[in-house]
Amino acid sequence: VIAIHNLHKSYGELEVLRGVDITAPKGHVVSLIGSSGSGKSTLLRCCNLLEDSQEGEILFDGNPVLWAGSGPDRRPASATQVRQIRTNLSMVFQQFNLWAHLTVLQNVMEAPLVVQKRDRAEVEAKARAYLAKVGIGDKADAWPSQLSGGQQQRAAIARALCMEPQALLFDEPTSALDPELEQEVIKVIKDLAAEGRTMIIVTHDMRMAADISDHVIFLHQGVIEEEGTPQALFGAPKSQRLQQFLSASQ
Ligand code: ATP
Ligand code: MG
Repeated sequence: VIAIHNLHKSYGELEVLRGVDITAPKGHVVSLIGSSGSGKSTLLRCCNLLEDSQEGEILFDGNPVLWAGSGPDRRPASATQVRQIRTNLSMVFQQFNLWAHLTVLQNVMEAPLVVQKRDRAEVEAKARAYLAKVGIGDKADAWPSQLSGGQQQRAAIARALCMEPQALLFDEPTSALDPELEQEVIKVIKDLAAEGRTMIIVTHDMRMAADISDHVIFLHQGVIEEEGTPQALFGAPKSQRLQQFLSASQ
């Protein structure tokens, strides 16, 4: 179980997250929806410590792994905590962010070898298996620039999987892709959902969210405006803001 508790984040005067709580039980898919600027990416970036936050904690199985606190008690995450969070919550970005100077296989192996200091033979076997799983086993020795956008994104997913994280975080994994390439990536994400991976997914794709989520959260101006099962949120939205958002994203 991954839990984010009472997360607050400001950029100067701008309060982007105003006390957000998210729980992702093991094997569940939580989708995060909301209009542009509502704080979705900021939320994932804070979870992964790519951004500092002012208050809140992240808990794995009830144990705080990052304790931020507030006021005089607040302390920054240690390098060890940062490593622990990053390897346990592995992130896939909208822009695939593969390292251009490494082959696809080297991209997938890099963090397990360098950050996690795992055994090379074990990592290589897993890396090849994950590349095969996302359907690009034949691209292991290619350079990222030789791959289509959909293939690059699938390589990025294999890279995240190879860290054997407790959960995967996706920030609009399909929105930089053409519609036909988008489907390849959606299929991979659906397969991961079906095999019980814990995932938090920021998406504009309401159909995918309805299809694969156990829980959907609608974020509005840095607070959770409404949340529930996909049936409840998409079938019978209560909040007027959510109703408007859904009719605008048809
Ligand atoms: P989108 O759907 O467009 O990706 P989002 O929900 O992911 O939007 P965020 O990127 O989290 O929104 O941004 C939330 C708010 O925080 C916005 O008002 C944005 O302008 C602001 N913001 C984001 N990053 C920074 C930054 N580095 N410095 C200052 N303000 C920022
Ligand atoms: Mg965003």
